[in-house]
Amino acid sequence: MKIMVSACLAGENCKYNGGNNRNEKVLQLIAGNEVITVCPEQLGGLPTPRVPSEICNGVVTAKDGRIVDREFRLGAVRCLEIAEREQPDLIILQSRSPSCGVRQRYDGTFSGTLVNGSGVTAQLLMEHGFKVMDVEDIT
Ligand code: SF4
Repeated sequence: MKIMVSACLAGENCKYNGGNNRNEKVLQLIAGNEVITVCPEQLGGLPTPRVPSEICNGVVTAKDGRIVDREFRLGAVRCLEIAEREQPDLIILQSRSPSCGVRQRYDGTFSGTLVNGSGVTAQLLMEHGFKVMDVEDIT
C-alpha cells in the first residue's frame, strides 16, 4: 500500500515550533508500506520555525497578523500535485492544523477554540477524491 502522511507525524521537525508530532501508531501503520511524507506549510515556502497560523474568516493568518493564505494554499496545491502523481491509497494527516486538520481546526481567534472543518490541504485533497484520515481516527 502507498501511504501519504503529514511529515511531522513521521517525526520530521517541520512543526511551526521546530518540533514534530511523531506518532508511534502512525509509524506502526506505515511500516512496510511505501511512504510519502509531506509538510504543506514547508512546501508553500514557509520557514521552520514559523509563527503559528489559523484560518480567520476563511483567510489563513499568522498570529502576528501577517496574511499567509497564499503560502498555505500554494502548499496545498503542491501536496495535491504530489498526491495526483503518486496516487496514494491512504493519506493520514495531523489533527487540528490549519493545513492538515481533517475534522476540526482552530477558529481563528488564537484562543484554543476548535470548530468543525478542515485545514486547507486536507480540504483540497478530499475535494479531489483522496481517502484522507485524521491521525486521531487511527485506533
Ligand atoms: S503543515 Fe501539516 S505536516 Fe507540516 S507541521 Fe503542520 S501539521 Fe505537520
